[in-house]
Amino acid sequence: MMPPELSDIRDFHAHVYYEPGVTEAAAARLRERVAELFPRAVLGRWHAVPIGPHTRAMYQIAFPVDLFASLAPWLMLNRDGLDVLLHPETGDDPRDHTLHAAWLGETLPLRMEAFAAGEDEDDAGLPHET
Ligand code: ZN
Repeated sequence: MMPPELSDIRDFHAHVYYEPGVTEAAAARLRERVAELFPRAVLGRWHAVPIGPHTRAMYQIAFPVDLFASLAPWLMLNRDGLDVLLHPETGDDPRDHTLHAAWLGETLPLRMEAFAAGEDEDDAGLPHET
């Protein structure tokens, strides 16, 4: 298998994890600020019940490659204690969420069986260029 190339990255996801009723307000503030400062980022819906490979409540931020240099460091500075999974979308979901991933805060467990089962992690995202 060929090693992946930068050009294989179609877009990025940031998954913002929160605890319903506990860190939900911080997650909501972060979300509002992302919407305001990064209008090209696509905010997925709130998932209070874990979905796909994710084992905690979260929402997804999908964003184009050219926003990485601003949005990733912005999240580093502003995540307010929330754990965030940053991963590329190369078309290889299991690797994108593990080998290729970066975590801000704690590394949380993922349910890898979800990938084999073909479960979606969110229904919102950027349209992929082919
Ligand atoms: Zn994702």
